Amino acid sequence: MGILEVQNVNKRFGGLKALHEVNLTVEEGTVHAIIGPNGAGKSTLLNCFVGRLKPDTGSVVFNGTSLLGLKPHEINQAGVSRVFQTPEIFGNLSCFENVMIPAFARRDGSFTLNAVSRLSGERSIQEKAMHMLEDLNMGDKAGVQADQLSRGDKRRLELAMCLVQEPKLLLLDEPTAGMSRGDTNTTVELLRTIASRGITMVVIEHDMHVVFSLAQKITVLAQGTPIAEGLPQDIKGDPRVQEAYLGG
Ligand code: ADP
Ligand code: MG
Repeated sequence: MGILEVQNVNKRFGGLKALHEVNLTVEEGTVHAIIGPNGAGKSTLLNCFVGRLKPDTGSVVFNGTSLLGLKPHEINQAGVSRVFQTPEIFGNLSCFENVMIPAFARRDGSFTLNAVSRLSGERSIQEKAMHMLEDLNMGDKAGVQADQLSRGDKRRLELAMCLVQEPKLLLLDEPTAGMSRGDTNTTVELLRTIASRGITMVVIEHDMHVVFSLAQKITVLAQGTPIAEGLPQDIKGDPRVQEAYLGG
């Protein structure tokens, strides 16, 4: 039994079958990559894990508990955090405040932006947030307004916002999308460090260099269905995978 068990998940958007009979087991403590051509259903699948979308049929079980029917914040409280394809940060707040907000939400179960002013009295949350920023080499950016950051630093900030919640499972949708080679390499190193601490990760990624340097297991999705699964070295030479990419 994996930490995440996905069985027979189907999802339609009108006439479009975005996901068709998806089965997936993510083993605890591994980095599991989901790859596939554009429109294959990768983001849709992740959305089904975090409660943004509800599968039409099938089951999603995390750590023995069904995630279906739970609200996004309940899934988050259960230990699942997600980095989106486009960073979701509070652009007009400082990096420090951005990281304090999810730390606060994790402790108290909810947070509204009106409560930002209360954070000045939250010593332990402040320490946790600062520690997290330093951990990701962003200590010097604590006071910087988030929308002033480079693209790579925005991603790093978002990662800090996830990690401060101490997730058991971290979901990453194209964490290096739009990054320079330098930022990509830094991010890969960072993700390797996070993985080495035992956090399970599911990562959707286009950059094959990133996939092969991070993942222990790869699932290939094409037209909403897994067409191949295995170790990176097996996936690399799989003709079905090459066909899905060339044909896609
Ligand atoms: P990927 O992340 O693999 O590129 P997506 O999961 O974003 O693919 O999309 C899978 C398919 O579902 C695509 O054809 C996309 O256009 C469609 N799709 C995704 N989200 C929606 C939505 N909310 N409404 C309608 N169609 C959608
Ligand atoms: Mg996507």
